[in-house]
Amino acid sequence: SVPASIASALSSGARRGLLMKAGAVIEATAKITRVAYDKTGTLTVGRPQVTDVVPLSADMPELLAVAAAVEAGSSHPLAEAISARAEAEGVQPLPSSGGKALPGKGVEALVAGERAWVGSPRFAAAEMGVLDSEGIHRATALEEEGKTVVVVFRPRHALGLLALRDEPRADAREGIRQLKDLGVTSVMLTGDNARTAAAIAGSLDMEHRAELMPDDKVAEVRAMAEAGGVMMVGDGINDAPALATASVGVSMGSGTDVALETADAALLRNRVTDVAAQIRLARAAMGNIR
Ligand code: ADP
Ligand code: MG
Repeated sequence: SVPASIASALSSGARRGLLMKAGAVIEATAKITRVAYDKTGTLTVGRPQVTDVVPLSADMPELLAVAAAVEAGSSHPLAEAISARAEAEGVQPLPSSGGKALPGKGVEALVAGERAWVGSPRFAAAEMGVLDSEGIHRATALEEEGKTVVVVFRPRHALGLLALRDEPRADAREGIRQLKDLGVTSVMLTGDNARTAAAIAGSLDMEHRAELMPDDKVAEVRAMAEAGGVMMVGDGINDAPALATASVGVSMGSGTDVALETADAALLRNRVTDVAAQIRLARAAMGNIR
């Protein structure tokens, strides 16, 4: 049977929006020494705004019409921001079909009869070969401002760039500091580019690893687990495998169905400080048993 101190920690956690699936999650949470976070929607609010529209071979309305068409079927936070910007500019998305997520890279769809993509500059340049040195230069300058840049492109050429900014959650820096006080190290794992990631991690005073594909996030979590208990906190939009690999997988933010299925725990109030609260609660419960 479940010891009384664990049962009471489960119910007092639940009352405060710290849902843990079972007593075993309390035991594992008490042993956590490192926490890995997905960036978008976890450390950040997850509602990026388009800050810059940079037409290259297309004009602004065509750029937004294609971008919004490609993103029409995507649930990624960047997709919503791009669709909202098109609507704000009075631009109708072109007809699209067959939308498909390319995790860690972007999204593709058939738009007005021809394939189109919205994706990272690295994907567009290195993998698809559609971004010239002028485009790379403009993308790099925007990333150095801490913005996420995506390229809107067709099979042979880039239509333009969109830059987006996603603010850190108001309590993110405080949440990382509280974990430091508990002796717990925090690391941001992100598919975003190294320049944007460094700017955001620096503002939160935490470590980071950037330009990670979903599989790379799993490998990072596995490597961290060799040094002790590791918790992964994510929103489940393409980080479900990393959640499943961690000693304790925690979903936070938009909390997709996938995340709730894969996670051991859920932080319903979307506060980064609740990560430290969960660890304090678990340590206290285990302390009462010993
Ligand atoms: P994060 O670690 O910040 O959650 P993701 O792995 O979700 O990052 O995405 C990594 C990168 O892939 C994004 O920064 C973006 O360049 C690209 N990307 C992913 N999904 C989309 C999308 N729907 N539209 C445009 N770009 C996308
Ligand atoms: Mg993500």
